[in-house]
Amino acid sequence: MKILICNAGSTSLKFKLYDMPEARVLARGHIERVGSRDDAVFKYYAGDYALELTGLDIPDYQSGIRRFLDCLTRGDGAVISDVNEIERVGYKATLSKGHYGVHELTDEVLAGMADWISLAPLHNRVYLDVIRAMCEVIPAARSVGAFETGFHRTIPLERRIFGLPYEWYEQYGVERLGYHGASHGHVADVLNAERARYKAISCHLGGSCSVCAIEDGRSVDTSFGMSLESGLIHANRVGDLDPGMIWFLREQGLSDDEIREGFTKTGGLLGISGVSNDLRYVLDAARGGSERAELAARVFVTGIVHYIGAFYLDLGGLDYLVFTAGIGENSAEIRRRVCEKLAPIGVALDEDANARTRGEGVISAPGSAVTVRVIPADEELSIARRAYELK
Ligand code: ADP
Repeated sequence: MKILICNAGSTSLKFKLYDMPEARVLARGHIERVGSRDDAVFKYYAGDYALELTGLDIPDYQSGIRRFLDCLTRGDGAVISDVNEIERVGYKATLSKGHYGVHELTDEVLAGMADWISLAPLHNRVYLDVIRAMCEVIPAARSVGAFETGFHRTIPLERRIFGLPYEWYEQYGVERLGYHGASHGHVADVLNAERARYKAISCHLGGSCSVCAIEDGRSVDTSFGMSLESGLIHANRVGDLDPGMIWFLREQGLSDDEIREGFTKTGGLLGISGVSNDLRYVLDAARGGSERAELAARVFVTGIVHYIGAFYLDLGGLDYLVFTAGIGENSAEIRRRVCEKLAPIGVALDEDANARTRGEGVISAPGSAVTVRVIPADEELSIARRAYELK
């Protein structure tokens, strides 16, 4: 069965076409700067075939999707002869009111996504547009949403519920939902294949960041709360915040739009450093002597360590500490800075292995009480498996 997986960002689209159940990747594509009239980037790979174009006019998601489907079906990189060979399209969808895990994207599920737009405004809006555009181009394919919240439904209620009137939980569904389910779920899949019983903490550090406590393959706690504006600081977003600050900022004369902008676009690593939302530039600036950049790096590391410490105690021990996603897989410096703070719980880093590792690897020293690993994020594979299994 051919399954197309679609991972949409606010201005980017990533695709992978799988042949399931073998999980063979037939082709993949990446579009950057969707919405641009002259500066979009399009990349397409199928086996040895590679196409990389820049300076393109890709005004909307539909034209990006059409360009990718054209490559799939025509020319030297074609891997199928007709788009209707694609039986399912799986989306790394964020959340839908009342629907967790993997669901066919019926009108009801799509309405649930629209209902909870305020919890993930950028993400849900983009997905609703992309799903609509894709359905117009491949109407026969079944649309499947793998919601990022699904993996966290196993978190016990005492770690999901907030200190708020209980009726808000019952009436409005106010609770910790958690995100990055496909990524933490993939880490669990890798560990599950090795052993049945274990305690792990998975750190997904990318543009968005979260820490997840995993026991025997199930999520038992995570740093994200209900909305995406929670947990660790992110590239541009605030992370955990004292709600009293919202009223305070209003009193200072800021409008709700300005406050939202600070929480979601001009906050996080960018807000503190004043340099960039990309950690690479923040670390470069810190090495160059920028105090604010160094401060941002310290806030980032401290936040990760706080969650690891709390989850370590809650789990009652730790077998694996896992780093994944763009920063987790590539930044030896952040991994080192986090692990150095974990010496009291017996974490010992192998400095050479850490410096060398990009992608898969064990980076702890042989005597370390906790095995520290880097596991590359493969959210698309995790979604392809779940979309394939959907009855
Ligand atoms: P997203 O959450 O947007 O899918 P990714 O998982 O692709 O993000 O991670 C992207 C982030 O990874 C970039 O913003 C960049 O900060 C970070 N990154 C990638 N390589 C490095 C590196 N070598 N050092 C530090 N940060 C890196």
